[in-house]
Formats: sequence, structure tokens, C-alpha cells
Amino acid sequence: MHPHLKEILFSREQIEEKVKELAKVVSNDYEGKYPLVVGILKGSAMFTTDLIKEMSIDLELDFMDVSSYGNATESSGEVRILMDLSTPAVGRDIILVEDIVDTGNTLKFLKGLLYERGAKSVTIISLLDKPDGRKVEIEADYYGFIVPDAFVVGYGIDYAEKYRSLPYIGIFNQEFL
Ligand code: 5GP
Repeated sequence: MHPHLKEILFSREQIEEKVKELAKVVSNDYEGKYPLVVGILKGSAMFTTDLIKEMSIDLELDFMDVSSYGNATESSGEVRILMDLSTPAVGRDIILVEDIVDTGNTLKFLKGLLYERGAKSVTIISLLDKPDGRKVEIEADYYGFIVPDAFVVGYGIDYAEKYRSLPYIGIFNQEFL
């Protein structure tokens, strides 16, 4: 375990297993639909690419980069688009892939935006759910794991751009802030 972590929540093997499970369910639900899979950078980059490798249907891949955190460990509530989609959303069945739903601000903003742009449907898949953090009413359609109200890192998820490359997810030890 990385010395800056307090505890490992989900091992590489547990994550792999969960990703396969989610990919199977989503592939079933989207059979024949050619969805546009949108990974939300940077946190869900690893999850998104692992997920689509396990999906058995044709799909299109795009990314958006949004920021709501800066380098702090508290959500600011404000969502900024840092990089937009390169694919038009109009008429598409979109699967938004997120790393973690905390306050819900990011997903509420993105879902609204994609519908405004004429998406046919927008569903959300999030690897992690932090239900205690929710401040706005929104839920993902598919979740991987529930996490406690603690700051997690690993498997794409950072603290100040660090720890993204860890193959597991754990609780960050705030002594290393
Ligand atoms: P929300 O907009 O739902 O509050 O937060 C979504 C984003 O906040 C996530 O995509 C993630 O980037 C960040 N976030 C929320 N909780 C955590 C956490 O425990 N650790 C890290 N590193 N980021 C988090």
C-alpha cells in the first residue's frame, strides 16, 4: 500500500471484477444503440478505458474535462468546462462515465447541459458513490461501489494530481495534505 494512504478500500482484483460486471449490464441495456460513451477527465479516464474494453457492443468514445474541486478536498459547487466534447451530442444516447458522485453538482450540470444540446438520452455510470456527500438531487443509473464520507484516491482519482496511477482505491491519509 502507498504510504500516504490510510487503508485500501478496493483492490485491483475487486475493481476488475466490478468493471466486468458493469460492462456486461451496460452492454445488455445498450444493445443495438451505438451509444456515445463520455469519460469525465481526468478522474474517470482509467475506469472509462477499462470499462469499454469489457463492453461487447459497438460504441463511440469521447471525453470532457470538467473541474469542480481545484486542489482542495472540498467541493466548490462550481463546475467549469476545461475541455469540451468533439462529438455533437444531438440525437445521441449518451453514457456519462464518472469516477465518483459526491455532492452531485458535476453530474447535475453535465446531464442538464447534454440534454440542452439535444441528446436523446443521458445515463450515468459512476464507479463510486459517496451518498453522504450529496447536496443536489441526482443519482447515477449504475454504480460500482459505495464509499464512506472520506477522501479517496487511486485508480485514476487524484489528490493534487498525485496517486492516479495506483491500481487500487484507498482512503488518503490527510496528514499528507
Ligand atoms: P461532485 O460534483 O459530485 O461533488 O464531485 C464529483 C467530483 O469530485 C468527482 O468526479 C471527483 O473528481 C471529485 N471528488 C469527490 N469526492 C472525491 C474524493 O473522495 N476524492 C477525490 N480525489 N475526488 C473526489
